[in-house]
Amino acid sequence: MTDSADWLRQPLRGVVGGATAKALGAMGLQSVGDLLDHLPRRYSEHGELSDIGLLQVGEQATVMAKIASVTSRRMRQRKGTICEVVVTDGRHRLSLTYFNQPWLQRQLTVGMRGLFAGTVDSRAGRRQLTHPDFVIFGESASTDSGAASTLDGADEGGDVERDLRMLHEFTGFLIPIYPATAALPTWRIQKAITVLLDTMPDLPELTPEPIAAREGLMSRTDAYRTLHRPRSMDDVRAARRRLAYDEALVLQTVLARRRAALAATATTPRIPAENGLVSAFDVRLPFELTVGQRDVADEIATDLGKTHPMHRLLQGEVGSGKTVVALRAMVTVVDAGGQAALLAPTEVLAQQHFRTITSMLGPLADGGLLGSPPEATRVRLLTGGQSAAARRSTLLDVISGDAGIVVGTHALLEDHVDFFDLGLVVIDEQHRFGVEQREALRAKARTPPHVLVMTATPIPRTVAMTIFGDLDVSTLTELPQGRQTISTHVVPAADRPRYIDRAWERITEEVAKGRQAYVVCPRIGEDSDSPGNSDPPGNSDPPGNSDPPAAGQGGAGDPEQHSVLALARYLADGPLAECRVGVLHGQLPSEAKEAVMSTFTAGEIDVLVATTVIEVGVDVPNASVMVVMDADRFGVSQLHQIRGRVGRGDVAGLCLLVTELPDQSPARERLDAVAATNDGFVLARIDLEQRREGDVLGATQSGVQSSLKVLRAVSDEAIIALARTDAVALVGADPELLSYPDLAAAVALLESDEQAEFLEKS
Ligand code: ADP
Ligand code: MG
Repeated sequence: MTDSADWLRQPLRGVVGGATAKALGAMGLQSVGDLLDHLPRRYSEHGELSDIGLLQVGEQATVMAKIASVTSRRMRQRKGTICEVVVTDGRHRLSLTYFNQPWLQRQLTVGMRGLFAGTVDSRAGRRQLTHPDFVIFGESASTDSGAASTLDGADEGGDVERDLRMLHEFTGFLIPIYPATAALPTWRIQKAITVLLDTMPDLPELTPEPIAAREGLMSRTDAYRTLHRPRSMDDVRAARRRLAYDEALVLQTVLARRRAALAATATTPRIPAENGLVSAFDVRLPFELTVGQRDVADEIATDLGKTHPMHRLLQGEVGSGKTVVALRAMVTVVDAGGQAALLAPTEVLAQQHFRTITSMLGPLADGGLLGSPPEATRVRLLTGGQSAAARRSTLLDVISGDAGIVVGTHALLEDHVDFFDLGLVVIDEQHRFGVEQREALRAKARTPPHVLVMTATPIPRTVAMTIFGDLDVSTLTELPQGRQTISTHVVPAADRPRYIDRAWERITEEVAKGRQAYVVCPRIGEDSDSPGNSDPPGNSDPPGNSDPPAAGQGGAGDPEQHSVLALARYLADGPLAECRVGVLHGQLPSEAKEAVMSTFTAGEIDVLVATTVIEVGVDVPNASVMVVMDADRFGVSQLHQIRGRVGRGDVAGLCLLVTELPDQSPARERLDAVAATNDGFVLARIDLEQRREGDVLGATQSGVQSSLKVLRAVSDEAIIALARTDAVALVGADPELLSYPDLAAAVALLESDEQAEFLEKS
């Protein structure tokens, strides 16, 4: 085992050539183990051509194609020649341009097949590669030994002989296509890996032998050999399954150990007083809890009464009533003499939670005031945008324990925020917060607090197991009685400007009936150069946590997109001149945000033009219609969240998704999917399937993200479930994994990675 560990740790310099090692280093690959883990992105069958139609401008692409024409001519403006090679996949053409390399005319012949690698750019609307590297296989690669050549000037030694042998070796098999860079095309990566495979010792087996036998898994060593040098796609699948299982097992073992540690941690049980605050709260509630809410509330109350900390995820559709359930949990802890903190991702949402909680509690939130009920407590708000004086007074109430409930943004995480006795941490919209932030709050408690995280982005069960594997999961599936449905329509605005006028008319009609409306835009100002033209972090989506922008669309400052400020002015002066129009975005000062939201809530603004600051949690039941501009700019789950702002009262909601994109584009299909269903679970799946795993795991579990090479949370559900059961059994029988030293080493590595990431960020 040590032998192979040493081998894996070796720096690449000395194993592969110096220039190659340097180029690999630039890709973040330092050691032999790093390179071994650099797995092909896909495989090309010999003779099978790539689909040129799928190439995206800006992408670093490797294309298997056939030469259709080679022409050379003198340049008109400058000295020298230009050689244009056109390659084809049988349907699409791609042009390759070379300057001053007249000999190419002789080397490249029509009909030859090869791999061409370069950055895709666009000239006169046509996609092309400038000076791509290439390897040629010869005319009929499957029978002849291909005539190979490389044109890569930087190629060490330009070892054509060797390339020839290597490619010959692959004739009839699959050609691995690696994630590559301009400096290092895929075949040079392949060559470097071939060197490793020749000296690879037996690698440690992470999965215990009985499990590997039960699952019919090949050895880890064979799995790497196969993935880098496969003979068939069946081999690839079997090898992938092996490595995926290993990853799943290591991950689930870490999570199982974390759960075991939590179960062994002592904390203060929070049992409410009889006829205390909780009873008074239940009496005050203006509605009956749904059966689902009741069940979850009971589950949580039971957890809170235990001597080890609760760690629970509460997920539920937008509008399923999570906040009430969370509030009841907070009230329970206060009733038992402790404090509860509610952490919200945006200032707007924190302010709204504060308003909702104070109004739901009514006199029960008047603690300390003359004539308030004896069981009453105090609710305080803490955000970064508050004045120093307001903050100071809140902090005093928090440390003295006078404030039973504290609602806040990231400001709650700061060092100088001290609690008297923090018993419960509620985190709203978990996907906006990382483990480290959870930890920061937890660290403020005398005994480990109970933790409840809420998310309205529902995630499939196994994804939850992967991402939140250390949390128990409660799900609210039904919506409260009388909840109206939302009907959603896509409005194609490009060639039908009349449609968008109709959208404004719909708003006017609703407002005439006394309803209110939202208009959502992707950016704030009209000046695309102004810095921070999207909402600042902490007030809106932290970058990287929002959904991926539609391919081929511009960034946040894209002047083509509608902006809140410009559109609000246009609407107020034009189509919505009869309505009272307000503006809300993340760059407004806190008091302004607060004022706008409460004016809107009070019904004194008819139409709120806003960025996605309203995405989560904003709750104004009288709002019945929403228009989302440039809807293709938003992700599937995000749109589902956004539209959840309407249809929250007793009137049906209408959501219009405006897009300029043509009917058949992929982004249009995503919009159609959103319009077709109101089931957040279905949409979450669509969303997850489109994302890379790193984005799925995101900031939530950074250590996990970097450790996943093969495992895919959505498609590897079965493996994850299996590994979870195995991990629980292993940890139950042998908590320190003494009988499984190789697994223990991998687990320790992942645990220390997470620790390191945490320390770096805090
Ligand atoms: P979310 O799960 O999206 O956070 P909220 O907790 O904000 O949902 O609830 C949405 C709305 O439904 C709120 O106005 C809330 O007061 C109301 N609500 C919650 N539970 C019920 C219920 N059982 N019956 C009727 N209305 C409810
Ligand atoms: Mg909510």
